[in-house]
Amino acid sequence: MNAPLTPGLYIVATPIGNLGDLSPRAAEVLRGADVIAVEDSRVTAGLLRHIGAKVRMTPYHDHNAEAVRPGLIARMGSEVVALVSDAGTPLISDPGYKLVRDARAAGHAVVTIPGPCAAIAALTLAGLPTDRFLFMGFLPAKAGARSETIDEVAGVRATLVFYESGPRLAATLAALAEGLGDREAGVAREITKKFEECVTGTLSGLAARYADAPPRGEIVIVVAPPGDAPPATADDADAALAEAMTRLSPGQAASEVARKLGVDRRALYARAMAMKPRA
Ligand code: SAM
Repeated sequence: MNAPLTPGLYIVATPIGNLGDLSPRAAEVLRGADVIAVEDSRVTAGLLRHIGAKVRMTPYHDHNAEAVRPGLIARMGSEVVALVSDAGTPLISDPGYKLVRDARAAGHAVVTIPGPCAAIAALTLAGLPTDRFLFMGFLPAKAGARSETIDEVAGVRATLVFYESGPRLAATLAALAEGLGDREAGVAREITKKFEECVTGTLSGLAARYADAPPRGEIVIVVAPPGDAPPATADDADAALAEAMTRLSPGQAASEVARKLGVDRRALYARAMAMKPRA
């Protein structure tokens, strides 16, 4: 029999599809927990059945976290509290960071049991640079906010990783092509499940592929960094802004130049406002 676990908070990663990916250590912690904080008890009940464990669960999700957190923190002084999400690594586009913050502040042990994460798994499939990447989670659903968020990262020299759903995939790929330029990308779907695939191509090609055939299942989009052109100089940016502002508003000009030159849009917007003739 394993030694009893020290009381505290255990962050436990769970499979993103294939139950075989639950690590022995994750199973040991779940079996030994006094209580498991879960997003959806029906989902975690399936996992517990798989490992033959019967452990008390308590819901912890965006709608009750504020109310439930103090009670969980109090229990960590003498009990083993595990946190899981429905799938993958808790805290990654899932609840949990405030629980960790408050557990630390209260002086409790905080232990992580690492494991599956869709973002990292997609990076391993797409064949795009992995030395620097920026995890973007879900883009906003509304087109305007989505474009703004994309503009913010157009100049970032890193591979970008987005979570997305099938029905929104084509529109998101088209918005990425528009905002970032037509970069190489990968659409990783149903990772670790029966119909796992990773389709690669340009953003516009992928947008066209999925436009009339929204795919089923869970999806991660991976987008290559901007090309290897030498970074634009301040003079390049000023010249491009001056030209763009003969046709566009300062905001639109900043967006266009950010996209073309891979420069930070906010800095360009400030520059555009400074260059704008005073009325
Ligand atoms: N915490 C999770 C993790 O570590 O990946 C992510 C939770 S987030 C609420 C759920 C999103 O992750 C899905 O909408 C999808 O974009 C992505 N995802 C989860 N499982 C996946 C899978 N098997 N294949 C592809 N994407 C997946």
